[in-house]
Amino acid sequence: MSLSLVLMMGIVLAALLAWLWPAYRRRQALQEPFPAEWRRILAKNFPVYRRMPADLQLQLRQRIKLFLHQKQFTGCAGLTINDEMRVTIAASACLLILNRATDVYAGLHYILVYPNAFLVEQEEVDGSGLVRMQAKGLLGQSWSNGKIILSWEDVLKGNREFTDGSNVALHEFAHQLDHETGSTNGVPVLANAEKYAQWSAVFSTEFEALRHAALQGDPTLINTYGATAPAEFFAVVTEVFFEQPQQLAAQHPALFEQLKAYYRVDPSDWL
Ligand SMILES: [Zn+2]
Repeated sequence: MSLSLVLMMGIVLAALLAWLWPAYRRRQALQEPFPAEWRRILAKNFPVYRRMPADLQLQLRQRIKLFLHQKQFTGCAGLTINDEMRVTIAASACLLILNRATDVYAGLHYILVYPNAFLVEQEEVDGSGLVRMQAKGLLGQSWSNGKIILSWEDVLKGNREFTDGSNVALHEFAHQLDHETGSTNGVPVLANAEKYAQWSAVFSTEFEALRHAALQGDPTLINTYGATAPAEFFAVVTEVFFEQPQQLAAQHPALFEQLKAYYRVDPSDWL
């Protein structure tokens, strides 16, 4: 056998391995049992899990394993990442992608976790029109370049109090789904043109109604932070859909139906 033939066979073999290896590792990760310690973490930090039907619990556990296999967690400001943080954050992420054939956030690679609210420098325009940098405290931030930043203290609070309509992890992972279309505008990937038309009609009406209520100072079920932009509206109503589904269905039935079709679950059955 000539040297060039051996070389060529080597290259083909290496390419084949590089192609097969991730799929093999993925299958292996899915076949690993879900550790008893992780179940205890879900019971303690993710109370909605206990209320979900068994088939969705199983799906959630499978997706958590895959999520933790694929994503890299980094502790910031001196925080040391542990399994409690990894499993709790993965559970929040995977709650949004049940009942669908999808990869677990293919575009997301890094999860940065701060112990509590973190400061970011943001441009602010003052009363005289001057732009200046201002330090602002945030509980979470989602980037379209494969990164998400979360305050652990607030992830925990949002998940343990799962009925107040406020959940920073669900909010930021909804932004990640929104990024998947390539533009973050409050419209995630939908099946076809008809679905986009229905989504757009319902969401624009509801967004305008929330803006109006916010201006009037009227009480609203949906946090008026959602009135700041369509992308924020989608993230905020995602929090309400999972945490206060019955109220959302009663007060905003068309919006509830759109979210139910998109997330392919009905959390009002779980309560
Ligand atoms: Zn947001």
